[in-house]
Amino acid sequence: MTLGRRPLVIELAGVYGFCPGVRRAVEMVEKHLREQGPLSTLGAIVHNTQVVERLRAQGAAVTSSVEEVRTPAVAITAHGAGPAIYEAIRRRGLVLVDTTCPIVKRAQESARGLAAAGFTVLIYGETAHPEVQGLLAWTGGQGYATMSPAEVPAPKEGRLAVISQTTKEREAFWEFALAVAGQHKSRLFELSVVDTICPETGRRYRAAADLAQRVQAVFVVGSRNSANTRKLAEVVRSTGVVTHFIESAEEIAPAWVRGLQTVGVTAGASTPNEAVEAVVQRLKRLGGQP
Ligand code: SF4
Repeated sequence: MTLGRRPLVIELAGVYGFCPGVRRAVEMVEKHLREQGPLSTLGAIVHNTQVVERLRAQGAAVTSSVEEVRTPAVAITAHGAGPAIYEAIRRRGLVLVDTTCPIVKRAQESARGLAAAGFTVLIYGETAHPEVQGLLAWTGGQGYATMSPAEVPAPKEGRLAVISQTTKEREAFWEFALAVAGQHKSRLFELSVVDTICPETGRRYRAAADLAQRVQAVFVVGSRNSANTRKLAEVVRSTGVVTHFIESAEEIAPAWVRGLQTVGVTAGASTPNEAVEAVVQRLKRLGGQP
């Protein structure tokens, strides 16, 4: 009698893939394309090559500035934009599809309100990231972005507010805010710390770390240009489990699953379900599942 090998068990993370903000943005763009025709997006609507290509085929061009727009409508991405962009869109008479995530909108309102109240607004985040550029713009020149407490200049008039890029880790943000406060305590008259962090990315990190405890290898699906997917892969790798960061199912080498009994799959907040489903199907084929 020949004993067949046991098929590979594939487990998905408890939370993975598109976050509500990205799903909403993609749906708003798709609805506009369907009902009103072509538009341009100011930057990629989502950091995922497959989704951007699919939308491009339906009539969504990607541009880097309002001046370059050659369609009647323009979409602001879920990362949001500063007031000058809204003004440029208005001046050109373009139809605006504003897909700014409501959580980013709240962070922008904090940035604007705190600056208007006379605070120097310190943003914990990556200066070059489009969301941080938008937040800075809403401070009207009263803002500064960094992730290093040593770089923070002395706040003007002793009033400092600290907010965060929405996708940062909560613990690291509070450590940063407390370090800055300690550093400038002799000059501070008023300190305001506003937690503008979105819970969605943290939920994906925790679910992926949890999954990593139960399987022999984890496949992290998403574009390499997605910061949150890269971070997700880092979180998984830091648990010590074998980690494969892949953009598509075709990248999976048969040797990666040979001899394994359990594998896990997770995906960043910008990865569509189709990409995850394609990975699961390929793993099933390679693992001998019907
Ligand atoms: S990660 Fe959070 S803040 Fe960013 S788009 Fe998704 S829901 Fe919005």
